[in-house]
Amino acid sequence: MKKILLIGIITFFSTNLSAQTETNIDSVKIRKIYTEALTNGRSYQWLNYLTKKVGHRLAGSEGDKNAVAWAKVELEKLGLTKVWLQPVTVPHWVRGEKEEAHIESEFGKFNIDIRALGGSIATPKGGLLAEVVEVKSLKEVEELGDKVKGKIVFYNGAMPADKIETFRAYGAAVGQRVNGASVAGKFGAVGAIVRSMTTKIDNVPHTGTMRYGDIDENQKIPTAAISTSSADMLSKLIEQGDKMKFKFYFKQSCKNLPDTQSFNVIGEIEGLNYPNEIIVVGGHLDSWDLGEGAHDDGSGVVQSMEVLRLFKELKIKPKRTLRVVLFANEEFGLSGGTAYASAAENKKEKHIVALESDSGGFTPRGFGFTCNDKNYSQILKWKQLFEPYNLHIFARGGGGADIGPLKKDDNVLLGLRPDSQRYFDYHHTETDVFEMVNKRELELGAASMASIIYLFDQYGINN
Ligand SMILES: [Zn+2]
Repeated sequence: MKKILLIGIITFFSTNLSAQTETNIDSVKIRKIYTEALTNGRSYQWLNYLTKKVGHRLAGSEGDKNAVAWAKVELEKLGLTKVWLQPVTVPHWVRGEKEEAHIESEFGKFNIDIRALGGSIATPKGGLLAEVVEVKSLKEVEELGDKVKGKIVFYNGAMPADKIETFRAYGAAVGQRVNGASVAGKFGAVGAIVRSMTTKIDNVPHTGTMRYGDIDENQKIPTAAISTSSADMLSKLIEQGDKMKFKFYFKQSCKNLPDTQSFNVIGEIEGLNYPNEIIVVGGHLDSWDLGEGAHDDGSGVVQSMEVLRLFKELKIKPKRTLRVVLFANEEFGLSGGTAYASAAENKKEKHIVALESDSGGFTPRGFGFTCNDKNYSQILKWKQLFEPYNLHIFARGGGGADIGPLKKDDNVLLGLRPDSQRYFDYHHTETDVFEMVNKRELELGAASMASIIYLFDQYGINN
């Protein structure tokens, strides 16, 4: 009896001790990762090149081609096991000449800054002039029905300011931008203009994708975004009613060209012990054609590249195969993410973890995880390792649009969760430029990603 008790005590202490040693080894390793990223990191330098030398890179554009070529060469320099391009068919939309808009009334013309939404058709050559109907939601248009006929529908539903996570506020309002034109077009409206998707009140219009869905060709109407301050001004004019009669004019020459080819840029370090278990880290290489796509998603791209560089530089030989994927065309219908997942399915590859960074290069606050209960309780044990780095969010839910198609019952998808308060100040605008990204914040994000990837690599999942 005494002997059994003694063995019990010894086993208890030794397992506890080994768990403690593991934690110590992990915290030392994570410290090294942060130190390297913050003192000798490459992400900021890469972002500088991608934004200033390559510039914006909408799917199918010259910039997109240059970005693919640049990323491949940079990954090749890292000495990975292999680097390759995966062909992806992408849509090809071009903005055309700079858009024009103004308000026309008996008091004269007042110019408004406007940007076509991605995927929209052009206005007639001479532009479009019509009365405006203001709504706050798609539902309001359905209720108005034929009353919008011949008019420009003005979607003025703001991103709700009371939501703490701005991505939730975006989710609550963005339906107007995506489906506004198709809903208004069905009831005979001639155009749709949308309040920009931001909580900031300023003069900068935000573009973004829109869809016509399956409506008839003759129901398709041109659509564009105006800034939040223009939207507030327009709304005030409408409030004046008969005292202030006016019409809205806009002109755009954008068009949809035939689909073309782009590529996912992929690099990997083959795993030492379990090469068939794949861990992906990525962001999307394409961006909107305004600004430089610095936060969206240049930051995620260079942070993902940095994760593999950190492993190489610190001589961490991964047990599992570590793969960076720079996805093609996220902005215009996710063709990169879809192509990657279907190729993985065809090759019967086993993706155990996928991490995406596509929420801007701001101060990292933690991660959001989409996984089962068992994996989540394993992950929660790692939370304390991130306390010294001020990462507190280990929330359920999240991942990223590009990695979404990789979801399986027993794998883990996760997204880096940076502070989201300023992301929509820049999102899809000409102000999303390199200067708006803070070097330290960007590097802290890359280190956080590398650290959690290190843990997933060490321990795998479903244990
Ligand atoms: Zn993005």
